[in-house]
Amino acid sequence: KMANETLKAELGNASWKLFHTILARYPETPTPEQKQHLADYIRSFALVYPCGDCARHFAVFLEKYPPQLSSRKTAALWGCHIHNQVNLRLHKQEYDCSTILEDYDCGCGQDEAEELQ
Ligand code: FAD
Repeated sequence: KMANETLKAELGNASWKLFHTILARYPETPTPEQKQHLADYIRSFALVYPCGDCARHFAVFLEKYPPQLSSRKTAALWGCHIHNQVNLRLHKQEYDCSTILEDYDCGCGQDEAEELQ
């Protein structure tokens, strides 16, 4: 069995990947319903995250930095910022958020193009 720290890091990597990709694909101009869906997702993510300490710390960050859901760019930058807060707490390097939308491409751009047709 892998060391606990390795497992925790892998879970973190996978979770952040999904988290940032969802934010980077959130609509440019979300409807109130789409905003609610993302707000619910973020809150649930914090509640169900299986590393208890992580979830507790993250809930505190969410209180301090409430999700900014007015647009894709705003949401993605908010997500980058809150991950940077976690990085800071874990003494990791700060991530450059300026290319966040390009950094998290889901490979599903075609779907979006079809939706617009
Ligand atoms: P990760 O932080 O996992 O990041 C993965 C990749 O995302 C990086 O390689 C980089 O390419 C990119 N990235 C880095 N920063 C950003 C950013 N700001 N925005 C966008 N992309 C970025 N671990 C603990 O030990 N204690 C905790 O309390 C804790 N809390 C956590 C809370 C949550 C909600 C999550 C999802 C994870 C938490 N973790 C915690 C795990 C921790 O954040 C890392 O995932 C883990 O330490 C592995 O780190 P890493 O250096 O591989 O990069």
